[in-house]
Amino acid sequence: MLTPPRLRNDCFAMPQGVAWVPVDEALAKLRAALVRVTGTERISASRASGRVLAEAVVARRSNPPTPNSAVDGYGFAHSATGKGVQRLPLVEGRAAAGQPYRDSVPEGSAIRILTGAILPEGVDTVVLEEDCATDGTTVAFDGPVKRGANTRPAGEDVAEGEVALPEGHRLGPADLALLAALGVSEVTVHRPLRVAVLSTGDELIPDPGSPAEPHQIYDANRPMLLALAARWGYEPVDLGHSRDAPDEIAARLDAGADSADLILTSGGASAGDEDHVSRLLREKGQLSSWRIAMKPGRPLALAMWNGVPVMGLPGNPVAAFVCALIFARPALSLLSGEGWTEPMALTVPAAFSKRKKAGRREYLRARLDAEGRAEVFRSEGSGLISSLSWATGIVELPDEAVDVGPGTPVRFLPYAGLGI
Ligand code: AMP
Ligand code: MG
Repeated sequence: MLTPPRLRNDCFAMPQGVAWVPVDEALAKLRAALVRVTGTERISASRASGRVLAEAVVARRSNPPTPNSAVDGYGFAHSATGKGVQRLPLVEGRAAAGQPYRDSVPEGSAIRILTGAILPEGVDTVVLEEDCATDGTTVAFDGPVKRGANTRPAGEDVAEGEVALPEGHRLGPADLALLAALGVSEVTVHRPLRVAVLSTGDELIPDPGSPAEPHQIYDANRPMLLALAARWGYEPVDLGHSRDAPDEIAARLDAGADSADLILTSGGASAGDEDHVSRLLREKGQLSSWRIAMKPGRPLALAMWNGVPVMGLPGNPVAAFVCALIFARPALSLLSGEGWTEPMALTVPAAFSKRKKAGRREYLRARLDAEGRAEVFRSEGSGLISSLSWATGIVELPDEAVDVGPGTPVRFLPYAGLGI
């Protein structure tokens, strides 16, 4: 005799007897399972922005290479000065950046010196031009001045032979300045990680420019995941879209395994009738773990396909996005050679109320209001893609039960700290 299921008030509670993997446990498993897969290459430092160092960078030259003046002013030997008004005769000529003064400055004399100029022999201290009076032959200023004032010692930033940047560091614009200053013209970096993206679903239309029947929807995940991969500094590989047909999915996974270091799929990762991705991976891809105690985005398939890891994200774009930020990001980072990454988290007061039960972690689409408090989107509906655009980050509520009210400290993970 068939009995219909009864809807209960707590129908969203954790099902009994199912092994839900807590987020931290899933992350730990992922971290233990993956290793760096990218080879290395030596490239010009000028082209290395966004690349990950495969070897530490050692300074070939000190920065600054020589002691020099930090200001425009007058330089002299400190030993000849004291308290009260100092009057020093000026030597002829001057020291400027790129135009060193070749003679030595006698003790008791001073020299006109400009910012960045090497300190001439006999000069160890500089007084700021605004603190001086001069008639062109003598300079006068109030003593005492500190020995070494307004000068920069050689190597005060980085000394020759020192490690300037560690292995695994992703080079950014600031690093290119440092490499140049240290005389480093070539670096050893990892080959960029290739990340393949496949969407699955009979309802999907790949191109938002083409007409859609009422039962069809445009593929939102593929452009999002390809853009995420690119933002994170990886080479996106577009595997297109596959219908819910095992042969077709398998063929695309084959293509992905040939051309990428990791395959991100979306859709078909639950245990439903049409969830061909998880079925295929269970049969042929050593599916390893897939029920994460989190909201949104519980189904997550982790498997290997022809030796290449596959991460099967939920089909729902909001869930796919959050799972990509929480799971794909550190996994890709580890594969790329940059190492495991933790999201940057700010603890801020909540501007919302929510009573959360124990048993799963929850991620809320959020942004900071004018007072720096985290406000959340008007609805937690997982179909609301616009909420991802509205948000500037996500609030992470812990696995345990929490009762959040206005002012309660919560963890806010800004998009910027998630690399987007
Ligand atoms: P699934 O995980 O395949 O059961 O999909 C869950 C929900 O996400 C369904 O409503 C799908 O239509 C939707 N979905 C799956 N893939 C995509 C996609 N690439 N773009 C937009 N929605 C999707
Ligand atoms: Mg589907």
